[in-house]
Amino acid sequence: MKNLPLHWKIIIGLIAGIIYSLVSSSLGWNSFTQNWIDPFGTIFIRLLKFIAVPLVLFSIIGGVAGLPDPAKLGRMGAKTLVAYVVTTVAAVTVGLVVVNLFQPGDYIDEGQRVKNRLKYELWAESTPGGRILDGERYLSKPEYADLVAEAEAAMKTEMSDEGVEARMKAAEQFKEAGPLQFLVDFVPDNIFAALTDSGRMLQVIFFGIFFGIMLLLIPQEKAQPVRQLIDGVNEVFLKMVEVVMEAAPFFVFALMAGVISKMASTPAEVIEIFKGLLSYSIAVLIGLLFMIFIFYPLVASFFVKKLSYSGFFRRISPAQFLAFSTSSSAATLPVTMECVRDNIGVSQNVTNFVLPIGATVNMDGTSLYQAIAVVFLAQMHLVDLTLGQQLTIVLTATLASIGSAAVPSAGLVMMIVVLQSVGLNPAWIAIIFPVDRILDMCRTVVNVTGDATVSTLIAQTEGELDVKRLEELETV
Ligand code: ASP
Repeated sequence: MKNLPLHWKIIIGLIAGIIYSLVSSSLGWNSFTQNWIDPFGTIFIRLLKFIAVPLVLFSIIGGVAGLPDPAKLGRMGAKTLVAYVVTTVAAVTVGLVVVNLFQPGDYIDEGQRVKNRLKYELWAESTPGGRILDGERYLSKPEYADLVAEAEAAMKTEMSDEGVEARMKAAEQFKEAGPLQFLVDFVPDNIFAALTDSGRMLQVIFFGIFFGIMLLLIPQEKAQPVRQLIDGVNEVFLKMVEVVMEAAPFFVFALMAGVISKMASTPAEVIEIFKGLLSYSIAVLIGLLFMIFIFYPLVASFFVKKLSYSGFFRRISPAQFLAFSTSSSAATLPVTMECVRDNIGVSQNVTNFVLPIGATVNMDGTSLYQAIAVVFLAQMHLVDLTLGQQLTIVLTATLASIGSAAVPSAGLVMMIVVLQSVGLNPAWIAIIFPVDRILDMCRTVVNVTGDATVSTLIAQTEGELDVKRLEELETV
């Protein structure tokens, strides 16, 4: 057991957690699980998250200041951003292909879809700026006359539901923001406030890059001790990750047991939650699995010939399993960095620069899921989205995934923007909410795998990949 590789130990913890939660829920032990096991999962996430913020800050500063010349920084920065945007657009496209091929919305009961359609029209007509997208008005069709009153009543209770109102308000705020708001949000007004707010990771990155460049510009004798200090502090945080990860299998067990027992109290309930949304969940899973098992390994082996298919997974699987159990790219970041640097052989500089940015802005799984969810929601409301509208989804899902924080459920909230961009009701996120956590776990795996892949190919093209190390590990 002692010599078992870490990823196997984590898998064992994960599976044991799932089995335990199923057994405990059928035996009625849920409150025991909540009180005595779940807190260890929370402790684990807290440990990883508190390490993540200073690690991002110090590794970005170290990464930038450690680059030999400003031209290299500019080139690497540009490459990184292009690679992140290209992989995200590819992911959204995969999502759109899957959802158009499988049409998961068609599996919803026809009568239910007509009622949904009527509610959608009532919403569109009562919302400022709202309009029925395909111009066809079901409300005035005589065959649906008897359903209109029912739809009206349902719409009223839904609109007065507090949660829906809060979400609509959040959506309004997004609408009010000007076109340059994202640029304004990038710049911190108080770096200490940015460090304490997990939604402001981009501001921490901005500060880190700025600080790192300034370190390159001041006289070397002044910069040197600062750099040494930052490198040293960085090492301390990386060591913390190593130590925490020693106990990862147990923590992952606690996390899985807690998450599943919170979702439902009996196995029958789990099935119930999935029933209506099964076709949708399967479509999202097909898209995500395609990315993990086909897209990334192909891209990685195209750029790095020496990296075998199974080797790719062996090296990054601890990060993947952690992403699955924490649902947070930010919490997983310290381990992603460790895997990419120690197991793949990506240089310290590239790891430090590319991965923290990736964890914050590159969310391929999130953008893929948003595309599928929006089109599925349209399908189940009998709304036909045109090609133009689907292209709008490519753009907004890309931006929304960049804007999503690397924490659980962030992608769901940001989907409001995507729904609005094509004139759909943002409150629909409530429909897919029941299955969101489990899909969040899966999309976070894709987000993390995407970051690891991009950092590998940046390292390869920049001559920052330790090929010897890569070969050494490949033969193990
Ligand atoms: N949980 C995801 C992440 O941290 C974001 C999302 O909700 O899609 O990567």
